[in-house]
Amino acid sequence: MKKTALVAGGAGFIGSHLCEALIGRGMRVICVDNLGTGKMENLKALKGNKNFTFIKADIRKKINIKGGIDYIFHLASYASPPYYQAKSIETLMTNSLGTFNLLELAVEKKARYLITSTSETYGDPKEHPQKETYWGNVNPVGIRSCYDEAKRFAEALTMEFFRKHKLDARIIRIFNTYGPRLQKDDGRVISNFIWQAIHNDPITIYGDGSQTRSFCYVSDQVGGLMAAMMKPGLAGEVINIGNPGEFTVKQAADMIKQMTGSSSGIIYKPLPKDDPARRKPDISKAKKLLGWIPSVKLKEGLEKTIEWFEKSK
Ligand code: UDP
Repeated sequence: MKKTALVAGGAGFIGSHLCEALIGRGMRVICVDNLGTGKMENLKALKGNKNFTFIKADIRKKINIKGGIDYIFHLASYASPPYYQAKSIETLMTNSLGTFNLLELAVEKKARYLITSTSETYGDPKEHPQKETYWGNVNPVGIRSCYDEAKRFAEALTMEFFRKHKLDARIIRIFNTYGPRLQKDDGRVISNFIWQAIHNDPITIYGDGSQTRSFCYVSDQVGGLMAAMMKPGLAGEVINIGNPGEFTVKQAADMIKQMTGSSSGIIYKPLPKDDPARRKPDISKAKKLLGWIPSVKLKEGLEKTIEWFEKSK
């Protein structure tokens, strides 16, 4: 019997790659998305596939699905700072009410459940690199809190379903991920820089560019998510999935400018409020529990991403 996975947020950037990978593993996939930022275009490789079903629905409303579900992946949320700030209340409700609805569905279907949380739960971290045991340094009322606190609430709710309902649930904290299908107007650093560079427009660095991020290529991220879901015995675990290679924003700008052969200049803009100064995952837990490590180096991943952006110019 084929296993069935439901992917909430499956038309999004990471979600669509995950749907393809699950189909590739011989599963049936039900993709649920409200197309807030997700796009049908992202799913074109799966169109007409008999094992793939798309349902346009918003998880803030209770979802009724006929038949069995073995796995529920919850990737539904705005995730880019400009987007989640513009849609702040939706973001809070998707991660609270939406998470509740998916957890209830998991209990009803006796499904295994995985929620994608975020490195943002660590806020502007005082511990470096960030281990899962770190409680974070989050401004609870700042402009990023609609995302950070919503994800922290989603984690708390998930843990209570694990404790009270014995739900086989796991929490994955995703660190900055990039690759083909990042939206060009998404506002995040890699998509902005590539789009600006290939148009020879000025590259916009916020602050002085000394802040760091660790960038994970999408195929590595999807591999980590699948490993975390398929491995039994991980109920109640919290695991970082990201690439520990750490780069300053200025380094990322220079690399992209050089790789695209762009004539773009660099302009400096004010650093957004509460922008974390440093971010790098400690992935020893993922290595130990999942035998997972990322394999795509930043240069290699950027090459593939730039190629995709060039094609969709
Ligand atoms: N950033 C930047 N220029 C841009 C977009 C982002 O300098 O055009 C910076 C941003 O201030 C942050 C880092 O790049 O320090 C990563 O931002 P992103 O929005 O990709 O995600 P975050 O990691 O902050 O959630």
